[in-house]
Amino acid sequence: MRKGIVVLVAVMALSLVVVGIGPAPAIAKTKFYTIGTGGVTGVYYPTGGAIARIVNAKKKEYGMRFTVESTGGSVFNINAIMAGDLEFGVVQSDRQYQAIKGMAEWKDKGAQKNLRAIFVIHPESITLVAAKDARINSIKDLKGKHVNIGNPGSGQRQNSIDALAAVGINYEKDIKAEGLKASEAPGMLQDGRIDAFFYTVGHPAGAIKEATSGARAVNIVPIVLPDSFYKKFSYYAPSVVPIAFYPGAANKADIATFGVKATFVTSSKVSEKAVYAVTKEVFENFDSFKKLHPAYSVLTKENMLEGMSAPIHKGAQKYYNEAGMKVK
Ligand code: GLU
Repeated sequence: MRKGIVVLVAVMALSLVVVGIGPAPAIAKTKFYTIGTGGVTGVYYPTGGAIARIVNAKKKEYGMRFTVESTGGSVFNINAIMAGDLEFGVVQSDRQYQAIKGMAEWKDKGAQKNLRAIFVIHPESITLVAAKDARINSIKDLKGKHVNIGNPGSGQRQNSIDALAAVGINYEKDIKAEGLKASEAPGMLQDGRIDAFFYTVGHPAGAIKEATSGARAVNIVPIVLPDSFYKKFSYYAPSVVPIAFYPGAANKADIATFGVKATFVTSSKVSEKAVYAVTKEVFENFDSFKKLHPAYSVLTKENMLEGMSAPIHKGAQKYYNEAGMKVK
């Protein structure tokens, strides 16, 4: 009897829906957010993927879905976020600093006031990769060589220019400079079409593995610079590339160079809800997040809040307040 009533009610409800007078089904519209990254053989691309994966695990609960886009790198990402073409991006800490202050690529456009920081991610090293037959044992040896300094839009382009200038090399006059994307450089090096390339990247990186595992023998070259360099550019710090990540490289010792950090940024125009969700999910699933890439092995919740220069987005700050975490 009771079963009969239930069936009858169900049939009536269904017929109302079918004739179009029933209540609309309560399906919330999913909001999409895109994270700008870098080349597919870098570390930004898997980083965007790791962040998206963590937050998308709750996509139904939040009504949000994060997707990842491969881009030209840091400068491209900041500009696309400021233009509203991307909501989130991975960018170098030095580029975040320059954008918020209106320096370097933003000198003419001025300070990017709507740029907002969320957290800091893995360390990146300015990595100089050179063919052994080109006899490049130090950055000074790049004089007269054919060198990829990075595409416009990449983070590394300015890092290469700064490092070259520090040893008296003018990139416009003293070398044959290329503006290739980081994903193209390893193939060009192996094909003998360039002598060396710079890439500011976390380690291990697919691009460096690719460059060091071909038929042409390749070295990762140290970049040793004077103290005055670090005094002039407060956002650079000495760093080391562990050679163990690259067994195919011709040199066998760890490489001294300098570095920055990858950071996660957005715009003040992106909703508090979305930024809160992504911040909360990454920190509440910190142990799983850390396992998603070997470059994250050095991450702690504390160092992920150190070294941001743009103001913290209010959605991220809301989570940090709730969790009792302090931004340094
Ligand atoms: N640091 C590079 C840039 O800002 C990207 C590195 C990567 O994709 O891992 O352009």
